[in-house]
Amino acid sequence: MIVSRFAPSPTGYLHLGNARTAIFSYLFARHHGGKFILRIEDTDRERSSKEFEEMLLKDLEWLGLEWDEFYRQSERFELYREYAHKLIESGWAYPCVCTPEELEAERKKAEEQGVPYRYSGKCRLLTLEEAKSKGLAYTIRFRVPEGETITFEDLIKGPISINVDDFGDFVIVRSDGTPVYNFVVVVDDALMGITHVVRGEDHIPNTPKQILIYRALGFEIPKFAHLPVILGPDRSKLSKRHGAVSVKNYREEGYLTEALFNYLCLLGWSPPEEGKEIYSKEELIQLFDLKDINSSPAVFDAQKLRWMNGVYIREVIPTDRLAEYLEPFLKKAGYEFDREYLKKVLEKTKDSFETLSEAVERLKPFFVDEVSFSEEAKAILENETTLRVLEYVLSKIEEGELSAQRIKEIAKMATKELNIKAKDFWHALRAVLTGELEGVGVDVICDVVPKDRVMGRIRRVLTVF
Ligand code: GLU
Repeated sequence: MIVSRFAPSPTGYLHLGNARTAIFSYLFARHHGGKFILRIEDTDRERSSKEFEEMLLKDLEWLGLEWDEFYRQSERFELYREYAHKLIESGWAYPCVCTPEELEAERKKAEEQGVPYRYSGKCRLLTLEEAKSKGLAYTIRFRVPEGETITFEDLIKGPISINVDDFGDFVIVRSDGTPVYNFVVVVDDALMGITHVVRGEDHIPNTPKQILIYRALGFEIPKFAHLPVILGPDRSKLSKRHGAVSVKNYREEGYLTEALFNYLCLLGWSPPEEGKEIYSKEELIQLFDLKDINSSPAVFDAQKLRWMNGVYIREVIPTDRLAEYLEPFLKKAGYEFDREYLKKVLEKTKDSFETLSEAVERLKPFFVDEVSFSEEAKAILENETTLRVLEYVLSKIEEGELSAQRIKEIAKMATKELNIKAKDFWHALRAVLTGELEGVGVDVICDVVPKDRVMGRIRRVLTVF
């Protein structure tokens, strides 16, 4: 069975690059009917935090990435200790009592000589008993066989070869007893039965170290798929400098989970059907394969993501669900309404915004009793024609139903009877009903907003201006 995983470190918010890694790993597992595992990599106690872990889980749940198993590395230290001892016993690892100062001096020397730094191997012959008897702090290092070139077949990048002399003996357990990423990742991936390691290409230099540990522990080596980085518009690695890059940010801005999921998939994965860009999660599970991932970097396009969010709002998501998504945004803005009313509003307006936070602004005239007026709108209100239009409209709508149809009829009559241009009629009403000179249609407002509210707004202007 195919088993893949996502292994975030809780040291910050989930950013788009990691979210895409999680999605690809998830889709790969689901496509093959396999298992998807979530593992929190929190061995670095200083940089990890519970708050970040909670945010990670929230974002992953929001993205709909249900996992089959969950692990937290900080709860597995006993296990890592056991495997570190195995490596020492079999001679693959040894304690190192070199002090940070000594190591720094070695590093400096290498720098001065212009050669890549490698640990000198000074402690290679030290035994655990000797290290302990010295009463000194010690790390545990992996003994790297000299001169070997490790080659592996990356499922995305093809064959990769790295000479182990590039790094030399590396630390697998810190002096405070906490195990290091390259070591625990191997123990976990092996014990969890991971068949495919899908992760960012920044981990390629770590892979040969991990392969050495797999071999030393007699574990089967999984397949590796290293995803190309995501670039910003200036072609440098996507980062905070490019603006909003965390999933939290997009969630709070009112991007839909379906749209973000879909968009991230298109960053580096080419669907078999050319030209089609909108895919449901089910379709993605069915179509996704690692072999369709481009080996060169993808460029993040915030405009395109926004556009896609708009498509989802307008055409893909049923109004019911859109109402459910939008409700908390409107409630937070202090609007009061019931679900049925919101659905009625959305039926007529969902083509007028691309994010849910934009909707809060756009749809204000549907939810408040009184609107506030822009400078341009105020200027219209002070027009003498406006006052005539308002009195006219009020007299016509006092009786009977108000609807889009009815207000259009009234507009027609007004142009004749008041001898005004249609444009002035609509301008006047728009300024009064929305407080702006552009935005959702006045006819839509008359169709949906309760008549009392419309009349209240007109009366207020007639008494104040
Ligand atoms: N914790 C590592 C990271 O967040 C995971 C690396 C891996 O997937 O092996 O980069």
